[in-house]
Amino acid sequence: FDEIQAVDSEIAEAIQLEKGRQNQNIELIASENFVSKAVMAAMGSPLTNKYAEGYPGKRYYGGCQYVDIVENLAIERAKKLFGAAYANVQPHSGAQANMAVFQAFLKPGDTFMGMALDQGGHLSHGSSANFSGKYFHCVPYGVNEKGFIDYDEVERIALECQPKLIVAGASAYCRTIDFKRFREIADKVNAILMVDIAHIAGLVAAGLHPSPIPYAHVVTTTTHKTLRGPRGGMILCGTEEYAKKLNSAIFPGTQGGPLMHVIAAKAVALKEALSDDFKDYQKQILVNAQALANGLMKRGITIVSGGTDNHLMLVDLQNLGLTGKQAEKMLDEVHITCNKNTIPNDPQSPFVTSGLRLGTPAATTRGFDAEDMDQIAEAIALTLKDFDGNKDKAMAIVKSLTDKHPLYE
Ligand code: PLP
Repeated sequence: FDEIQAVDSEIAEAIQLEKGRQNQNIELIASENFVSKAVMAAMGSPLTNKYAEGYPGKRYYGGCQYVDIVENLAIERAKKLFGAAYANVQPHSGAQANMAVFQAFLKPGDTFMGMALDQGGHLSHGSSANFSGKYFHCVPYGVNEKGFIDYDEVERIALECQPKLIVAGASAYCRTIDFKRFREIADKVNAILMVDIAHIAGLVAAGLHPSPIPYAHVVTTTTHKTLRGPRGGMILCGTEEYAKKLNSAIFPGTQGGPLMHVIAAKAVALKEALSDDFKDYQKQILVNAQALANGLMKRGITIVSGGTDNHLMLVDLQNLGLTGKQAEKMLDEVHITCNKNTIPNDPQSPFVTSGLRLGTPAATTRGFDAEDMDQIAEAIALTLKDFDGNKDKAMAIVKSLTDKHPLYE
């Protein structure tokens, strides 16, 4: 940090401010986490200097003998952690991993199915604002009125539209996903099943959510959410059948040189994820999600689908007379960070929304337990029910919790 300060005091100051914010706030954004110092150090290493287009042993540049060690370790650890036969650790992000899979299996204009953005899917699953919706024909599916995926409806849509590929996986879905059922549907229409486990990767790695590896033709993920690695993506398969196709879809198909410093950080995070401590951490994420959801519900706050099976939950704010936009701002003022989110059949626009998405991975990394989660539920309920009257009380709860669990001590 001193080196940054010496060269660029403006960036140094912004980093310090962000570090302070991360320490002062309770982080409930379901897609965020706090990496270990080892993961962070790998990202800030001299590996950032190296060009290594291609794959280990088959590079387009000289001097790749040491980065080959790094990438091979990342690949082997990813395969071991997920029980996969194939892993590509080069995608710069989750969206890039998805783009490569689309390139590998689809031609422009082909039909595929993905969960609609406003039902819990991700932008890269067919939103009209994204490459996936612009270059391919997306037929979306969603959840039923209770907030669960309706597999019969997914099957009906698939039989009707005959997609070439079906995407399972979501950004804001709090229930266990039945990958076996998705594969049965895909087989009925001869479609490729792509499962995006970006959110639940850590839970899958720890055996706390069923793995898609035995069922999916191809699995994509991010490395920075529950998996607690650097920002980035990966592609995994249960067989080596599509290795060539997928590797060439990443490079040269959609990316240039891999980010070797990030791949090193992925390798470190994957080593951490192979430990027993990581399994305990994932279990605690689930315990904490239950505690937060129950704490909110017992204080009269509505949770979509009546609870959660994983690390996240959706709050339905309609009975509180608040929009997601208002609630996100109020909570930010008491130093609780989360994001507004559409809820199924939301009457509001995606910029306003009627919901909030809350997740426990980051707070759990900080050491928060179930009792702390109940305190967070209290602070959230106080804030949302009477912001002006309760603001100071809520802030005091947040302060006592963040003081109790300092970040990066
Ligand atoms: N897939 C899912 C299910 C996600 O939730 C996200 C990110 O939120 C992504 C893909 C995209 O990841 P990235 O932001 O790394 O491109």
